[in-house]
Amino acid sequence: MFLEKIELSYVAPCIVEANKVRAEANLSRDVSEIMPYLNSIIKKATYIKGKPLITFPKNSRVITLHPRRVMIIKALNSTDVMQVLDLLRDLINETYEKKNEIEPCYESRVHSTLEVFSRLPKTNCGQCGEKTCLAFATKLLRWEQELKNCRPLFTAEYEKLRKPLMEILEPLGFEIHPEMKE
Ligand code: SF4
Repeated sequence: MFLEKIELSYVAPCIVEANKVRAEANLSRDVSEIMPYLNSIIKKATYIKGKPLITFPKNSRVITLHPRRVMIIKALNSTDVMQVLDLLRDLINETYEKKNEIEPCYESRVHSTLEVFSRLPKTNCGQCGEKTCLAFATKLLRWEQELKNCRPLFTAEYEKLRKPLMEILEPLGFEIHPEMKE
């Protein structure tokens, strides 16, 4: 068997949606090599080759697979998390077994810069060190900027932009702390 175990490390209240949970679990081996195959068969996957990571929806949940760990957000409860982890292990093992029949896809499909830009204050204030919000969005998606550097975003004035932005960034592996959503 390619992947023996996925061990749950924690379950906590979901930051994105009240009444749901988020969870993290550790994988018994590095699964980087299988990501391009998953990217090929999961049509709604977002694959970031450079990290590497792959994220995809499973009904209302969002699963983000890193080389040695997996994060799940918007799961129903702990039981749901365990079921998703079982399904994920099966998916990884089945994909590995069939990988000679699958054309791997190395294309990185990420949210567009404009999607991120539309959720920024768009004032070009320069506080992040970039001349424009568009430049900030571009660098953020290249992992060359940090979200916390857009300080205006975390003021009351732009509260309505924060949650939609977190919702697209968190599944991509960006560190989102609870206070960033307040
Ligand atoms: S700090 Fe935020 S609002 Fe100001 S330029 Fe940078 S991204 Fe735009």
